[in-house]
Amino acid sequence: MKNFLFILLFFSAYLSSCQDSSVVESAEKKWIDEKDKLRVLCTTEMVASLVSSVADDKIALLVLIKGELDPHSYEPVKGDEEKLFYADLVFYNGLGLEHGPSLRNYLQGQEKAVAISKDLLEVHSQRLIEIDGAVDPHIWMDISLFSEGIKVIERVLKEKDPLHKEIYQKNAVLAYREFQEKHQSILELVWQLPENKRYLVTSHDAFNYFAYAYLATEEEKKNGSWKQRVMAPEGLAPEGHLSLHDIKNVVEHLRRYKIPCLFPEANVNKDAINKVLSASLEKGMEVSISRFALYGDSMGEEGKERGSYFRMLEHNAQSFVQEMSKPSKEEIE
Ligand SMILES: [Zn+2]
Repeated sequence: MKNFLFILLFFSAYLSSCQDSSVVESAEKKWIDEKDKLRVLCTTEMVASLVSSVADDKIALLVLIKGELDPHSYEPVKGDEEKLFYADLVFYNGLGLEHGPSLRNYLQGQEKAVAISKDLLEVHSQRLIEIDGAVDPHIWMDISLFSEGIKVIERVLKEKDPLHKEIYQKNAVLAYREFQEKHQSILELVWQLPENKRYLVTSHDAFNYFAYAYLATEEEKKNGSWKQRVMAPEGLAPEGHLSLHDIKNVVEHLRRYKIPCLFPEANVNKDAINKVLSASLEKGMEVSISRFALYGDSMGEEGKERGSYFRMLEHNAQSFVQEMSKPSKEEIE
């Protein structure tokens, strides 16, 4: 009987996985066969959220790098070439995020590929953060910064699909306003924590914009010391190479700012964070790992409907506040 149940469970799991992949295939086929709407391909779920806030249902939208896949190193897989070929427009993050060689070459060589960070780079470059000489591509971590992409998307959609010009314009105005409101609400949420608790340590360097926008004081933004608000053992792209020196630096940072909690990231290996934890505990420090992983380069659950980008930021902010507001042993005594 047990064997029978096992086989039954196995087959039902097998059938549901077949169903899942056939659902994905049919959605992709439907997108390729789309005749009436503009076929728009977005590299990441975050870019797709921004695009759908302007386009709503007036375009056929498909995401290239889904789920927990790493956008930094992503290389096209079987079936992707077809998507890139059939797309009327490709929106990507830019600023070096998509740096897998084949994808990067494709994006740079195609007129139909547009970086949503175009205006940031060309008009507001002072708002971009540089880390070790490279521009930090994680702009979605600051809603007000990411919302600058709305204007780029609006311009391109109006040009490619002038029939819906007025709708794009109206949606863009509403979306821009909504993004500013969400930005403010995240700021208010995080600032429930006192200044001395607003320090974030995560797996990789994805949270610089988050720290600048939501953790730092105005004074720190002016004098550059906001950088102390965030630290990660791994660099801008998680690569898994970690020296003893890197670990020592993070441990020292935890001690200096009395940071009690390390935050793992949903799509990044936890080795680096675990190494920092062991090294801190060895030194007798009071440090633990957060119960909740943060979303750095992925949005977690399927981000089809509008708003899951906001949910991702809210999740990060709420998790941070919840863990960092726990009193330390010292404070209890
Ligand atoms: Zn990243």
